[in-house]
Amino acid sequence: MDIEIRPEDQPFADEVQRWLDEHLVGEFAEHRGVGGPDDPAAWELRLRWEKKLSAGRWLGLTWPPEYGGRGATLSQAIIFEYLYARAQAPYRLGVQGQDLFGPTLLMFGTPGQKARFLPKILAAEEFWGQGFSEPDAGSDLASVRTRARLDGDDWMIDGQKIWMTFGTSADWLYVLCRTDPRAARHRGLSLLIVPARQPGVEIRPVTNMLGDGGFCEVFFTAARTRADLVVGAPGDGWKVAMAALGVERGTLLIPQQLGFEREAEHVLELARGRAGATGLSHRLVDAWIAVRLMRVTTLRTIGELVAGREPGAQAATSKLYASVQHQRLLELATELLADDMTVTGGGYALKALQRAFLLSRAETIYGGSSQIQRNIIGERVLGLPREPRPGSTGG
Ligand SMILES: Cc1cc2nc3c(=O)[nH]c(=O)nc-3n(C[C@H](O)[C@H](O)[C@H](O)COP(=O)(O)OP(=O)(O)OC[C@H]3O[C@@H](n4cnc5c(N)ncnc54)[C@H](O)[C@@H]3O)c2cc1C
Repeated sequence: MDIEIRPEDQPFADEVQRWLDEHLVGEFAEHRGVGGPDDPAAWELRLRWEKKLSAGRWLGLTWPPEYGGRGATLSQAIIFEYLYARAQAPYRLGVQGQDLFGPTLLMFGTPGQKARFLPKILAAEEFWGQGFSEPDAGSDLASVRTRARLDGDDWMIDGQKIWMTFGTSADWLYVLCRTDPRAARHRGLSLLIVPARQPGVEIRPVTNMLGDGGFCEVFFTAARTRADLVVGAPGDGWKVAMAALGVERGTLLIPQQLGFEREAEHVLELARGRAGATGLSHRLVDAWIAVRLMRVTTLRTIGELVAGREPGAQAATSKLYASVQHQRLLELATELLADDMTVTGGGYALKALQRAFLLSRAETIYGGSSQIQRNIIGERVLGLPREPRPGSTGG
C-alpha cells in the first residue's frame, strides 16, 4: 500500500525517513516488526527503542508542545505511521498511554492532570494499564462492580479487574469504578487514575497461550488514590470510558494494513512453492481479495479523517472485518504449513507465524467482540431493531 504525500508535507516525510535510516540500525534493525498490541516480545529492547523515539520527539506527534508533542497535523501523523510501519520499526510499548489514555486525558483532564501525566507518557517514563474489564463485566461493561468511595482526601478502592494488557509493567492504571452504588448502572461510575505500585494493588500475571505473561488480573484491597485523580466529574465514568474506547485511532489502521499485506504476501509466497497448496487456492484467492478490500477501506477512512469528515459507515466494519480475515489468513497458513506449524513437546520457541496465529485468536474478542461489533453495525449503521441488553426487559 502506498500513500500520496502532499508537497507541503514532503520535508516532514524526509525528516521521518532520515531519522529512521539513522536510528533503525543494529539491534533495532535485527528486531524489525517485533511485538504487537498484546505481544510483549523483546520488551527491554523495545523500551530502549521507545526512549530513542521520545528523544527524537516522535511520540504523541499531534499533542500540544506544552505536553511534549509537536502539535503536528493528522496528515503528518499518518505519514509518520506509514513510514514507521513500512520500515518495520519495533511495535511501540506505550500504546495504552499514547493511543488510549493520553487522548482521553486531553479531552477530559484538568490542566493539572494533563501537566502531570502527559509529558511522562511521551518521555516513555510512565506506562499505563486499562482497568475496565472484570470477571462479570466485559461486553456488558456497565456491570462493573469494583467500587471506590471517598475517605478523607483519597478514594479507597476495592474490587477486581481482569485481562489488563501489559499491566505487569504499568506504573499507573485508569480504572472504571462504581462510586455511587445507588445510581443507575451507567450513571454511578467514575474513571480514576490509580498508582499501580502500592500495597493495596496486587497484580497477578495471567499466562496466555503463547506462554507470555504481559497480561494480568488486578486485585484492589483498600487501594488509595487522591480525590482529585478522577477524569471528568465523579459519575461521568461511563461517558469518559466510552470516549476512551472510541478514541479515533485512524492512524493505527496503517500499521495494521501494512502488517496484514506483508503477512498475506508471505503466505502466498509459501503457497507458490508447494504442490499441496492446490486444494487451498480458492481460499488463498479470497484472502488476497480481502487484503485489497481492507486496503480500500483503510485508505477511504484515512482520506475522510484528513479531510476533517467523520469516517463513513465503512469505518464501522473495519475492526470486525480485519480481525475475522486475519484469523482466516493465519488458519490458512496453518493448513498450508501443517507440519511446520505444529508444536510438540516442551522447550520450543514459537516461530513468527505460530505467534501470529495464536495472537490472532484474541483479535475477535478485545476492543469489542465480533458479536458486539455486529450489534453496533446492525443498530447504528443499518437501523435494525435494538438487541436486548443485559438487565433490560429486551427493549
Ligand atoms: C488480548 C486481550 C487484551 C485485553 N486487554 C484488556 C485491557 O487492557 N483492559 C481491559 O479492561 N480489558 C481488556 N481485555 C478484555 C476485553 O475487553 C474483553 O475480553 C471483551 O470486552 C469481552 O468481554 P468478556 O471477555 O467478559 O466476554 P463476555 O462479554 O462474557 O462475552 C462472551 C461471549 O458472549 C458474546 N456476547 C456478550 N454479550 C453479547 C451481546 N449483547 N450480544 C451478542 N453476543 C454477546 C461475546 O461476543 C463473546 O463471544 C482484553 C482481552 C483480550 C482477549
